[in-house]
Amino acid sequence: MIVTLRSGADPEAIRRSLIARGLWVTRFENRSGQPLFLVRPGSGTLDPAELERIEGIESWAAPQTTHPLVDAALGMVQIGPVPIGPGWPPVLMAGPCAVESAEQITAAAARVAAAGGRFLRGGLFKPRTSPYDFPGHGREGLTWFTDAARTHGLLTVSEVLSESAVEPLAEAIDLLQVGSRNMHNAALLSSVGAARRPVLLKRGMAATLEELLLAGEYLLLHGAPAVLFCERGIRSFDTTTRNLLDLSAVAYLAHVKQLPVIVDPSHALGRKDLIRPMSRAALAAGAAGLMVETHDDPGRALSDGPQSLTPREFRDLAGDLGFSPGDAERR
Ligand code: PEP
Ligand code: MN
Repeated sequence: MIVTLRSGADPEAIRRSLIARGLWVTRFENRSGQPLFLVRPGSGTLDPAELERIEGIESWAAPQTTHPLVDAALGMVQIGPVPIGPGWPPVLMAGPCAVESAEQITAAAARVAAAGGRFLRGGLFKPRTSPYDFPGHGREGLTWFTDAARTHGLLTVSEVLSESAVEPLAEAIDLLQVGSRNMHNAALLSSVGAARRPVLLKRGMAATLEELLLAGEYLLLHGAPAVLFCERGIRSFDTTTRNLLDLSAVAYLAHVKQLPVIVDPSHALGRKDLIRPMSRAALAAGAAGLMVETHDDPGRALSDGPQSLTPREFRDLAGDLGFSPGDAERR
């Protein structure tokens, strides 16, 4: 159940009244900053007439949904100076799969900024399928990454692979990424949410949209101020592409649920020759932004070289999609 307050009502007094009636409540705010209370399931029943008697309660609703916070979080989210969501100009996030060195990530940041990107991506903790593959530089690479982004006026997005990485990354990174392999990790979702930073939540490779939305609900319930939902391809029977980019999911999340969706064509396709047409398709389907991998020398990349765009390919893609460095000033 969601309880909405009248403007000017005292949220703390209302919280106490609800708790005194035996309800488990979590306070949160909608996009306009209006305080709301979520009455958590299982906290006992209450006669609606009782609620009406509490001073300051405007309305209450028992939504027929398993993810009321996600449903209430529709529309645009603001990360730093950048608005992201349905109806806003698309946002470009780009960078290498992994942060490999200070030089590599600084050159990538320059490239991303010059192409009109607003976020620098780069993995510090890499979820590799094989334990013999490069696992990322971890905390050692963090200042390379944040310095590179700051020098070029970019925001940062990087994956939080485990609960132990939440604290160091939450302090330094603008947008915390929960990776595909961790979308179902309830403990990680809870602690990432509790860090109270915006989150890029990647869809699990075999996750239904309901499961994705419930993972978003975990993040919001535990305190995340905003969640961007990322479609990065799902497993299919066909191995022509690394995954199957689910554009129906993009259209559903953007148009039916009115949620901010980021599409990652790099991990969806696993091959760079299809990134341009599928990026265009993603934007046409309603994506609020794209996350693309680019590397200064893909043949030498420590991870995901085959899907990484060269500097020239990346510049051409961004230009073709209409991104330009002047975008920041125009917003
Ligand atoms: C990534 O973006 O670095 C990544 C590992 O992606 P995914 O979780 O979608 O596989
Ligand atoms: Mn990658």
